[in-house]
Amino acid sequence: MNALRIGLGYDIHRFAQGRPLILGGVEIAFERGLEGHSDADVLCHAIADALLGAAGERDIGHYFPNTDDRWRGASSLDFLRDVRSILAAQGVRIGNIDACVIAEAPKIAPYIAQMKERIALALSIHPSQVGIKSTTNEQMGSLGRAEGIATLATALIEISTQTPSETPWPGARIV
Ligand SMILES: [Zn+2]
Repeated sequence: MNALRIGLGYDIHRFAQGRPLILGGVEIAFERGLEGHSDADVLCHAIADALLGAAGERDIGHYFPNTDDRWRGASSLDFLRDVRSILAAQGVRIGNIDACVIAEAPKIAPYIAQMKERIALALSIHPSQVGIKSTTNEQMGSLGRAEGIATLATALIEISTQTPSETPWPGARIV
């Protein structure tokens, strides 16, 4: 039996000098990058959390801790590939992903088609299943002062369930 599940992911990274800016696996021409242990791809991180959350899994920090040297400078597309494997082991099929990048600068619209392709490839889905939008924070708060970039993401998945949905799980309280 299959069930639809939805997940939500959020991530934020501050800008840092001397680092490349990587979003959705694409390097973007900008004078600053994002600070982080891995490549600090805030878009991939939010998508990974949305997918893990939809499957009832723990968050990205659990699977790829920033205290582990293995992930230093890692490409976050590799995180997405690993998340795909974690979900595939549960019989999960990805329906679609939608993400909103919140950045005062730079303009990311010219890169969106390429981001969709790279993310889709990492997750073994079609680019049409990946939505990416961008907005500014209307010059309000830390994001509005261009101190960093945040991303919100949702994911819809289809998961095969062992028990029919009308059977309450053992911890459920009947009222
Ligand atoms: Zn992150």
